[in-house]
Amino acid sequence: MNEKPLHKVLARQLKKYLPEDSLSNTQTDLFVRAVNESYHNFERDKELFEHSSFMNEQAYADLTHKLKAEIGQRKQSIEKLIDAIVTLDVPTEEGMTDINPDNLIELVEFLKQQIERRKTIENELRQAKELAEQATLAKSDFLSTMSHEIRTPLNGVIGFTDLLLKTKTDETQRHYLSLVNQSANSLLDIINDILDFSKIEAGKLELVVEQTDLLAVGRQVADMIKLPAHQKKLEMLLNIDPSIPRFVWADQIRLRQILINLLSNAVKFTQQGEIELSIERIRDHLADGSTSLRFAVRDTGIGIAERNQEKIFEAFSQEDSSTTRRFGGTGLGLAISNKLLGLMGSQLQLTSELGKGSTFFFTIQFKSLPGEVNQWTRLQLIQHVLIVDDNTTNRQILLAMLDLASIQV
Ligand code: ADP
Repeated sequence: MNEKPLHKVLARQLKKYLPEDSLSNTQTDLFVRAVNESYHNFERDKELFEHSSFMNEQAYADLTHKLKAEIGQRKQSIEKLIDAIVTLDVPTEEGMTDINPDNLIELVEFLKQQIERRKTIENELRQAKELAEQATLAKSDFLSTMSHEIRTPLNGVIGFTDLLLKTKTDETQRHYLSLVNQSANSLLDIINDILDFSKIEAGKLELVVEQTDLLAVGRQVADMIKLPAHQKKLEMLLNIDPSIPRFVWADQIRLRQILINLLSNAVKFTQQGEIELSIERIRDHLADGSTSLRFAVRDTGIGIAERNQEKIFEAFSQEDSSTTRRFGGTGLGLAISNKLLGLMGSQLQLTSELGKGSTFFFTIQFKSLPGEVNQWTRLQLIQHVLIVDDNTTNRQILLAMLDLASIQV
């Protein structure tokens, strides 16, 4: 039997109250043992209790410590939040003018309202953006349909007045008919310009890059301008650097459009002298085998005042209010050309002097195609050339070309 030693308190009490021999009594012995057991149990419970309360104290202290740290952290983040709110500088709203930063509830409420407001605004913005996109799409769709619808009958007007002009008409009829024809043509130009402009604005215009014969482009545009130039007794000069690569990758329709626009302006704003289109090799890019070419349209016309030299590139902008009256036009040509050049990685530049003339120029980097530069057959048979022309620039152009082929001039 697991006999426990007599508990010291019980032993003391037994010694005090019971004579030594009474312990031999079995009954007493049993009783003493039971009491001893209770004493020990009490001792164990007391120990357990003390231990457990100590444990609780420890846990409590730990918890308090943790809580304190957490509260400290919270406080810090709240302070940061308050700082953020204060520095955010949110415009004070109606009914929220006196927010006390010490009052967290008020502050959080304010923040909540701000977030809600932001969300609403964001939603509204998204909806507005979608609407605007739809509207732009609808607008450019409408414009392209409309301009197509207008162009068809207009072409009828132009075509039939052309035919009528070839029939027998008296002087007055002829005059009226050519006015109808001219008006229809300029209306067509305006419609084409507006369509182009809205297409570019809507980001819907894409370049069609194809193999392009630069010599042919130069000749075609010069040929087109020759007639109106000669009607005004202006010389039209084509100055193509013979060393340029003849074939490049380019959107030739748009390139022609830009050149025609610049050349028509040159004719329009020049009363006497000459108009020159030059294409010049600027430099070769060895890394990718491309070449930078500079196109320039020079005239000896009215020139553009320095203060207006930036303005004229804007859409619907002309040098001054008298321009429309004197020369007509919409002020879209340069804006469109510049936007097209933007798509080609270039931009229009201008040097001009009032009363002396203007030069519009731009540089494009082209991927060139290997192949012949210019074909001069049996050139070596020519040794001497005499150039006769009343136009100095023309004589110089021819001189440079023949010089390149080592022909004495
Ligand atoms: P538009 O010719 O239809 O008026 P542009 O955008 O082509 O529109 O030209 C804008 C303006 O720039 C012209 O109205 C004119 O004032 C000026 N301008 C353009 N080219 C020349 C030029 N070669 N010489 C003088 N002024 C020019």
